[in-house]
Amino acid sequence: MQALSVVAPHQVELVERVVPEIGDGDALVRIAAATICHTDHYILSGGIPGLSYPVTPGHEFSGVVKEVGAGVTQVKPGARVAVETYLSCGGCRHCRRGRINLCADLQEMGFQLPGGFGQYIVAPAAKLHPIEDSFSLEEAAMTEPSANAHAVVRRAGIEAGQSVVVIGPGPIGLLVLQYARLRDPGQLILVGLPRDEDRLAVGKRLGATDTVALPVEAAEERVLELTGGLGADRVLQCAGSTRAAELALAVAGVNGTIVIEGGGDTIPLALNGLIQKQLTVRGMCGWSFPDFAAALQINQSGRIELRALLTHRFALEEHAAAFEVTGQYRDGVIKAAFVP
Ligand SMILES: [Zn+2]
Ligand SMILES: [Zn+2]
Repeated sequence: MQALSVVAPHQVELVERVVPEIGDGDALVRIAAATICHTDHYILSGGIPGLSYPVTPGHEFSGVVKEVGAGVTQVKPGARVAVETYLSCGGCRHCRRGRINLCADLQEMGFQLPGGFGQYIVAPAAKLHPIEDSFSLEEAAMTEPSANAHAVVRRAGIEAGQSVVVIGPGPIGLLVLQYARLRDPGQLILVGLPRDEDRLAVGKRLGATDTVALPVEAAEERVLELTGGLGADRVLQCAGSTRAAELALAVAGVNGTIVIEGGGDTIPLALNGLIQKQLTVRGMCGWSFPDFAAALQINQSGRIELRALLTHRFALEEHAAAFEVTGQYRDGVIKAAFVP
């Protein structure tokens, strides 16, 4: 089988490997689609602390079960599946409550374990989620980022009628926007930069009531204007920039909640503003079991548009172009997939 291997930072090779053996509780899955995440670029650039190389990335993927171990009863060969990519210890206090993303011994396919940028993968059968016939394998590949977006919206606790601001019209932001829309907000404002015009137009089609395409410094005033000077009830920061986190704090209204999903560096926190506005600031990293299952169910119901987000497809041999296009935001890319 072929697989991509990041041998060391900035060094990607397409390698030939033997198809891995399966254990009693495992399944061998032939990968159908594996979408490229911003995090994969951190693997490529050496930006993930403590990660040891070589790595086969890919933590957002789907496939068809080829073979199952002797003890597997829940899936059969031929099943089309979305694959849950976290392997947690199962026994710590976080795991017992389903908060697998907080497990101290967490391992993730595509990071510490081989990922989906290859032709086959072995996964515990319990991690496979069979999908409906009407749901495509390409859509199923995007269950993992959907779970992340679902978790962000869950953490925000959006109530009907509230004003909601989503900062960052990337793939996660556009998914967050759609899950937020399902909570019936009164206003759903999507904020991006001038270069994001195309993505903001997609966001408008997907349910944003207003879009803002301005440099960060100018966005604050515009969002406050759009919210009648009050600021937003909920701000979901999915932009991965320090300035965007500052913007999130600035545009949150009294009693507002901010969820920070996109990373960044250190920001000054105006304590008087935090106190007077009685803000709640929450971080969100990854997802938990219920988020994955819920996101898949909602996605299969047709209420979330995934096809519009998948703009590019590449063969494994085209890895250089795939990482170039997604890394540089070329050719109107939103999400790209490897289709081995
Ligand atoms: Zn990801
Ligand atoms: Zn654990």
